[in-house]
Formats: sequence, C-alpha cells, structure tokens
Amino acid sequence: MRAFYLDAPGQYRMADIALPEHPGADEVSLKVQLVGLCGSDLNTFSGRNPLVSFPRIPGHEIAAVVAEAGSNVPEEFKPGTAVTMLPYFNCGKCSACRQGRLNACRNNETLGVQRDGALTEFVIAPWTKLKKAPALPMETLAMVEPLTVGNHAVTRGRIAAGDTVLVMGCGMVGLGAVAGAAFRGARVIAMDMDEAKLDLARRCGAQQVLDARGESVLERLKDLSGGEGPDVAIEAVGTPATFRMAVDVVAFAGRVVYIGYAKEPVSYETKFFVQKELDILGSRNATPADFDEVIALLESGRFPVEDVVSLVVPLEQAGKALQRWSANPASMRKIMVKVAASS
Ligand SMILES: [Zn+2]
Ligand SMILES: [Zn+2]
Repeated sequence: MRAFYLDAPGQYRMADIALPEHPGADEVSLKVQLVGLCGSDLNTFSGRNPLVSFPRIPGHEIAAVVAEAGSNVPEEFKPGTAVTMLPYFNCGKCSACRQGRLNACRNNETLGVQRDGALTEFVIAPWTKLKKAPALPMETLAMVEPLTVGNHAVTRGRIAAGDTVLVMGCGMVGLGAVAGAAFRGARVIAMDMDEAKLDLARRCGAQQVLDARGESVLERLKDLSGGEGPDVAIEAVGTPATFRMAVDVVAFAGRVVYIGYAKEPVSYETKFFVQKELDILGSRNATPADFDEVIALLESGRFPVEDVVSLVVPLEQAGKALQRWSANPASMRKIMVKVAASS
C-alpha cells in the first residue's frame, strides 16, 4: 500500500509498504479516507517539532471507514462504519493516567509524531479510540480532532452559558475554543491580529472581535466585558505578552486557560494570582468527552467547515502541499489529504 513518509525536516517520499496484518481481537483495520494536516505536522516538516522522530508517517486528523473488525469489537463499529479516532496513546502508569487523565499522560504518544500516523491507505487501531458520527460528511469528520484541542480548553475552563470568554488567537486551536464556548452558550470575544481570522471567528460563533493591533485594546475589552473583564481567558497564541495579558485582564475569581506554548520564559505580576484568586489551568490534547461534544457541535451545522478547508490534495501531493504551506504559513488554514482513491 502507498504511504507518505517524512525522512527529515523538508524531506519526503512516497513508499510502497506492506499491508498491515489482520487486526487483533480488540482492534480494527481502518481504510483511511481523508487526513487533515495540522500545525504540528507543519512544525515537523519545518524542523520545529522537538517531539518527532524520523522516518515518520505523519497524520492524526482522521476520517476513515472500518475495513475489518476483530472478534471483540462491538457491532457499532462493524465494517463499513465511518469513524474518526483519538490519536493519543497513554502509558497507563504515570500520575496522570492513574487519575484517569489520559490526555495528559507523561509518556503520551501521538499518531504521526512518536508513532506512525494516517497518511497511508490502512491503519490498525484499538476500537476504544474510535468515534463514529454517521451524519457527518468525510471532510467534516476529519475536522473533529483539530477542534477537540480548543474544545478541551473550554472544558478545562468549566465554561457554561452566561460566561463571557476571551479567546486570544484564532488559529485552528483558538477557533475550536471559540466554537466550543459559543456552543455551550457563552458570550465569546475573539482576539487576533489578522482580520481574516477575526472574520472567521465570527462565523464560528464569536459575538465580538478585537483586533489586537488596534488602539486601546484593553479599554475596549473592558467595555465589552461589562467593566470587569472576561470570566474566562483562553490563551492560544503562545507569546509572553498574551500569557501575561490573560492574567491581567481576566475578572476577579476568573479562570485562565493556557493552550499556547510560550517559547521563552514569561514574567508575571504575580499579585493578580492571589488578589483575583485565579484558577490558572493548562490544557493538553483532548478527551473522549471533547470528541463527543465537537461531534454534536459539527452535527448542529454551526461550524463553517467549508470556510476553513483551504485545499484538498491527493496523497501523492502531500509533500508539495506541506512545502507550499511552510513557505507561506498564513496562506492556508486547513489542508486535507485525500488518501482513498475514491471517497
Ligand atoms: Zn492536530
Ligand atoms: Zn501515562
């Protein structure tokens, strides 16, 4: 079967590899249909992903059809069922796993990063990682996983109807947080430095948008949040300025959720931690419950999938697409790779 490999940053090839063996009793074999490329795949391609090892088949945003099911696999995942899957594998032993917080496993391995991913015709997966969503077209099914990451920040922030939520950064992760918070009935203020992204954030459910390049951003934010600041601030940019801003602007007794990765140390006015009695939370990967919530959100039709997918290419063109994307990261939102010849 055909497979797309990255051998090193910027170096890719198509290979012909053996079909996987039959699935084990608790596994299925999946015929891959569509795979979304993610910012982490771009980082792998550009040599900015310290977690990846080579050679590697990338791809973890999966829409597939069950081709063969092991003897213990429930009837709901019988051959022919369209599914997406959780791409995370946990160790079962670390402190996070012992608390049932598998998404935060210390020894987490993600498909396409620490183990081979889905840019190949068939993959074997444990049935417990599968999620089905029969009402969703393939392209929408492949959007589930990328949206779960932002949705997990919404879960971590315990966002509920009536909350005012600031989402800083409207890339895929931020958009997932915008859509997830709006879906729960929160009032969402989206902030970014890119007008097109803010426009998209509106279509994902943000009631208000803030251009971070504009004047008096802090005052406008204060006005938009009733003078007290947002109840929850979600940081999805990863700069020291936005990490600090989240703590500075959030309301007293508010929640701050960090999903961005700051690449340098951040210095804080720590008195706000105490004075405001903040909950400061990290957010990593996503849980099965996030998958269920995102599937419900996509089934509601409230996420503009067609506005987010910039390009669909066949498997043979995945390398060229990554090259184009890395040469001009702002030019693309979501690239999808069509793996099955006809789907
Ligand atoms: Zn991803
Ligand atoms: Zn673990």
